[in-house]
Amino acid sequence: MNYRVVPGWARAVVASAIGRRNRKRVDRWAAFPQWPIDLSTDVLEDLSDVPRHADHSTRRAPVIVTHDIDSPEGLLNLVSRFLPLEESVGARSTNYIVPCAWRVEHALVGEVVSRGHGVGVHGYDHSNTTPFAAPAERIRRLDAARGFAERYAATGYRAPSLLRTRPLLRDLGPRFRYDSSIPTAGGLFPTPNNGCATARPFRIEDILELPITLPRDGTLRFLGFSPDEVLRIWMECADLIARSRGAVVLLTHCERRFSGQAGMFGAYRRFLEYVRDRHDLFVFSNPSSVLAGVSS
Ligand SMILES: [Zn+2]
Repeated sequence: MNYRVVPGWARAVVASAIGRRNRKRVDRWAAFPQWPIDLSTDVLEDLSDVPRHADHSTRRAPVIVTHDIDSPEGLLNLVSRFLPLEESVGARSTNYIVPCAWRVEHALVGEVVSRGHGVGVHGYDHSNTTPFAAPAERIRRLDAARGFAERYAATGYRAPSLLRTRPLLRDLGPRFRYDSSIPTAGGLFPTPNNGCATARPFRIEDILELPITLPRDGTLRFLGFSPDEVLRIWMECADLIARSRGAVVLLTHCERRFSGQAGMFGAYRRFLEYVRDRHDLFVFSNPSSVLAGVSS
């Protein structure tokens, strides 16, 4: 099977959005990996002589829902609206919170954890400088989050704006169990032609990487997709990932200008209900369960 094949309707929807915005440049911003999804690394792995992943045809695809919490508004919306929705379908989210930019309301983060959801570290102050800082400054910024990480048993890191460098990944290794900052197919962001073209966790620079496998809410909104189109793209990409034995990892933001807005929140709700109803294909999961099965 060719995991790079994007369903026809998705190509049409994407083509029309690109036509509105960026037709002349699509061959440059998504030549590889192909957007909205590209699993060609997994195809190559399955064609290779020693596949790392055993073929379990009855395996259900794990679905991990994550949020980047960039602001106090995001944290408030997470607890008041997103957690109840997720709990209603039997899901628990993983929430990467900026630790050192604004006053973190610890009562709210404590509630996230006590309700069974996960917390991770989302950079330092979201100024996008940590990956490019001098070594001592980068380590100072990473270590500034240590108290926060220990308090909430945060074992994962997500880079703000998904900006990362190999030196950053090397410094994350001793501090975190995993990183989740590399998109499967980044589209335009953080830079064109960015992504790992796999929906399976892997090891890089001595740390486990949990790729962000579905297109992100910010990219989809930027390209002008309606909530109905967003829902369809998420469902079709999730189906493709399930067929190729990957992990479905969705990143949304809880702020009003992202998925906190009524239409997008509705798309998110319908996606969660789709996953719940297709229990033959999917099972809600979390990073530690999925990464426990990755050979090192
Ligand atoms: Zn962010």
